[in-house]
Amino acid sequence: MESKSISRRKLIKRSAAAGAAISGVALQAQSPGVLRGSNAGRKFRAYVTRPGKGSAVEELTLLPVQPRQVLVRIEACAPCYTTVPRALPQASGTANRGRAEIPNHAAVGVVEEIGALVKRVQKGDRVVVAGTSQCGQCYQCLHGDPDFCQFTFGGDVFPPFATASDGTAVAAQAGVGGSSELAVVTEEYLCPVFTSVPAVELSLLGDQLTSGFAAGMCRMKIEAGSNVVVFGAGPVGLGAVQAGRVMGAAQVIVIEPIRYRRELAMRLGATMALDPNAEGAGLVEKIRELCKGPTDRKFAGGEAWITNGMANGARGADFTINASGMDNAPPKVERGPDPTGLLAMQQAWECTRMGGHLMYMGMVQGNFSLNGTSLALLGRTIHPGQQGGFHMMRDIPRIVKLMERGLVDAKTMIQGTYPLEKAGEAYQEVADRTKLSTVILMS
Ligand SMILES: [Zn+2]
Ligand SMILES: [Zn+2]
Repeated sequence: MESKSISRRKLIKRSAAAGAAISGVALQAQSPGVLRGSNAGRKFRAYVTRPGKGSAVEELTLLPVQPRQVLVRIEACAPCYTTVPRALPQASGTANRGRAEIPNHAAVGVVEEIGALVKRVQKGDRVVVAGTSQCGQCYQCLHGDPDFCQFTFGGDVFPPFATASDGTAVAAQAGVGGSSELAVVTEEYLCPVFTSVPAVELSLLGDQLTSGFAAGMCRMKIEAGSNVVVFGAGPVGLGAVQAGRVMGAAQVIVIEPIRYRRELAMRLGATMALDPNAEGAGLVEKIRELCKGPTDRKFAGGEAWITNGMANGARGADFTINASGMDNAPPKVERGPDPTGLLAMQQAWECTRMGGHLMYMGMVQGNFSLNGTSLALLGRTIHPGQQGGFHMMRDIPRIVKLMERGLVDAKTMIQGTYPLEKAGEAYQEVADRTKLSTVILMS
């Protein structure tokens, strides 16, 4: 624990040490007086992925907390589908950059120690650990785009924060990790929350639910009375569905091959859920029909209903969110029509009306092409996905308030909780898509 009053000289020394910590180099070369918190050497359990050896729960030893770092006792962690390829018990080593690491990139927990330079959080704070940072100082943050904060996805620049029993250094995936009893992250990834909403529900706010919700509330700003289409009813898509409901959309049409996910979408605010396998090649036309207004009389504010030429683009969604993507692992439930995710990208483009908005959020395999003239003439705006224009320090507290009012529902999205020793099962269910969101609860 840090002493409450520190001398100016000590502060300057700590500042210098922090500079080294930020760049991720020379971490062990700093003064022990600066580096050693009372928690260094503490043992804890974590779900660790080792190159070529898959993942398992191991006992680790904590390294000293750096001046800009925060030690968080994790309460709950919801595995993200994006992290699945490297997190499964039988995973190969190709995806984890040749080092041992703790998978995932979001969690919720309580601050147990702060480095000398940390300002945002205090010991005892409950914090959402977000997959996207917001430092407030980098070029992207200063230009209003903190979901592209340059501290996010730093990969190998994040130093190890623990060692395994065989001496192997262990880092956290994307500098965050989450599936461990303790995590050490820099403060720009943390948002303190002051609420009685249970940790298990808050565990969806660092990443999945929030990304989809922000897509509709922050970057695209769904208008009341509009037609919204969401491809994919995974945790991100269901966040987008809830944004459609909260923002007052007239229709929220979901496209999802998995039956139980269509049913969940209807419970969470969708007005219709379509199966892309059943709709086949007629899917886009079906959506256009659902979005056409009560009249085709243009002088009366209607959309042209004819289906040839440019007027074809008059009908369609005002806002489209593609929250579907490629299969990271073969699903053990209903398969979608295209494992690469490219077909849905194409359909999302085509089902959006002239002048409408669409956002691509899924990770896909390969490239897809658009008619160049349609880009020039149809006036559709493509928004970048990432975390949907999420400003974590601004938006996590807003979404927490909506949860307190019962307007955002994380509870319905959580289909299983697991102790840390069953973390592999929690990842496997997500990989197989047999459950929507699973949450690992630390004891
Ligand atoms: Zn994620
Ligand atoms: Zn930044």
